[in-house]
Amino acid sequence: MASRHAKVIIIGAGPAGYTAGIYAARAMLKPVLIEGIQPGGQMTITTDVENYPGFADVIQGPWLMDQMRAQAEHVGTEIIADTIIEADLKRRPFRLKGDSGTEYTADTLIIATGAKARWLNLPSEQKFQGYGVSACATCDGFFYRGKNVIVVGGGNTAVEEALYLANLAAKVTLVHRRESLRSEKILQERLFANPKIEVMWNHQLAEVLGDEDPLGVTAITLKNTKTGEDTTMPIDGVFIAIGHSPQTELFKGQIELKQGGYILTKPGSTATSVDGVFAAGDVADDVYRQAVTAAGLGCMAALDVERHLAGLDQVSEAAE
Ligand code: NAP
Repeated sequence: MASRHAKVIIIGAGPAGYTAGIYAARAMLKPVLIEGIQPGGQMTITTDVENYPGFADVIQGPWLMDQMRAQAEHVGTEIIADTIIEADLKRRPFRLKGDSGTEYTADTLIIATGAKARWLNLPSEQKFQGYGVSACATCDGFFYRGKNVIVVGGGNTAVEEALYLANLAAKVTLVHRRESLRSEKILQERLFANPKIEVMWNHQLAEVLGDEDPLGVTAITLKNTKTGEDTTMPIDGVFIAIGHSPQTELFKGQIELKQGGYILTKPGSTATSVDGVFAAGDVADDVYRQAVTAAGLGCMAALDVERHLAGLDQVSEAAE
């Protein structure tokens, strides 16, 4: 079985992972970054990015991630196409197992595994996933040209997805459980000004209805959150945009998590409850969750690792 050792292994290839790679490589730590199943992370399923500083013109999420990746490699980060399926944080060095069968060992770890889309967990939502129910407008929007779709949620993702889908679909209905959105005001303005988008306040998706053969969505039942009344309306596609959950399954029971399953980090630091393990980006951030804050946390994690390793070196020098 192949094995690899590194002073620092970064798990995850989003803004946090790549930025950690850039800083750790420039600190001559020869970082190894294991990219996982979605290289580029959530930014690869977004389109226009208008709030990442440094670009006066609108840029594309996938392009930004390609740039970060190229920069990380250019300064010396080794990027490996593998997905970690097991992690042992109790032993030193830390041990990781890749889907490829490779065993990795590391003196320090930066966890930058990000977050993934949340679902409502309705049985009918699961049944029609990939057959009219999606969590990614930029991936699946194309199939709904000239059709009627709903987007569920009231945050930035939901509003951005609705705006994106309005370019393709005949009509978009944004279904939100309350009567105000939590998304940025500038996005709200665009949403309300778009003649193809209607907002249904105080409604929750109760059930997805459809055909069995071939499997496909034909309608939805919505519940009024104020009156409890059910309404059924015909629909071609359902997009769920109700937030994200941190990807921490690998580390459960081995590292301290906070509410919502995010990795707990020490105040003002990326250090976790396990000495030598650092966490950066959406996996540890339940407050800001922006590409730019993830990149900032990735930078902090690399600097924290550098200090940690310097401390370890001092200890081993003193022991010699
Ligand atoms: P979010 O801000 O957490 O919003 C989730 C939305 O889904 C909320 O409106 C919430 O309703 C609703 N929701 C949650 N659970 C629900 C349920 N069970 N049933 C019905 N509705 C439910 O998530 P997000 O929009 O994915 O954004 C995540 C983070 O990424 C945010 O910090 C956001 O700013 C950031 N982001 C930024 C950009 C950008 O800057 N352009 C783009 C995308 C995302 P309530 O409002 O009632 O809680």
